Formats: sequence, structure tokens, C-alpha cells
Amino acid sequence: MKPTIKRVNILGVWHSVTRESHLVGDVKADGLYDYDGRRVRIQSGMSDFDTRMTLVHEILHGVLDISGVAHLWDDGQKTEHAIIEPISRVIASLMRFDDSSEGLELAPERKPKRAKSPE
Ligand SMILES: [Zn+2]
Repeated sequence: MKPTIKRVNILGVWHSVTRESHLVGDVKADGLYDYDGRRVRIQSGMSDFDTRMTLVHEILHGVLDISGVAHLWDDGQKTEHAIIEPISRVIASLMRFDDSSEGLELAPERKPKRAKSPE
């Protein structure tokens, strides 16, 4: 079932959750976290699982931002995404886990959405 959550409280701060057909940000994204707008924006039309994983991903951006942890790094969210991506995969996988399953299948890695910076 597609998550239909309309708002989420992230560390005491309420945010609305909106689905949008054409998310536009600095880069193409399946979701965007907007602290100033107190909003989590999710691309519509994705699979249930991708929607769930994107929602978790954006909520984790909020957690790291509001807690101040995200501001420990100055590398354009590279470290932040290195933390968020695997945790999102685990949490989203747990969200679809049911007791009749013999094992927990973690979601496969997603293709990076952002172009890698030259190193
Ligand atoms: Zn992100």
C-alpha cells in the first residue's frame, strides 16, 4: 500500500508531506526536504517501495538538519547521503517486513541520482 501520510513530526517540528508530479530542485530528485517551508516533497508516480524509501530518506535529511548533525560536514551532502542511503534502505525494508517472512530482504541499492563530482 502506498504511504499516504500527510504530515510528519521530525524532532518536534511538524512538516507537511506533499506529492508532486514535477519536482524541481537543484538536481533531479525523487524527494526534497524543505526546512524553511516545513515540507517534505515527494515525486508522485513512483512504486510504493520507492515512495516509502524516498519518504524515509527525506525524513532523515530532516533529522540530520534539525539535530545539527548535517551541519558538521561541508561537502555538499556527500557525507550526509553516505549515511542516509543505507539507513533509508534498511528502514524502508523493515516497513514492508511481515512476520510470515522467513528473512528480511533489504532493498537493492538505487542508482545514484546525482552526478558524481570529479575526483
Ligand atoms: Zn538526499
